[in-house]
Amino acid sequence: MFISIDAEKCMGHGRCYSVAPDLLSDDDEGFVAERGRCWQVPDEQLDLAYEAADACPESAIALLETAPADA
Ligand code: SF4
Repeated sequence: MFISIDAEKCMGHGRCYSVAPDLLSDDDEGFVAERGRCWQVPDEQLDLAYEAADACPESAIALLETAPADA
């Protein structure tokens, strides 16, 4: 599973890294530091990825079965 964080949708609510601090982190301005990135989630962090995606009120976090072509 891949996680993709849309940098333009992220408004810095901070819910994602609050519920999944072992997967995501915050930057100096309160945005998720990994915004704009797409990477493969280790199996042991899948639950965190789902929780983070569910927690985002902007739907900025997408979970993808396969890597996007531009990743
Ligand atoms: S919860 Fe969503 S909007 Fe808030 S920091 Fe995380 S990705 Fe950005």
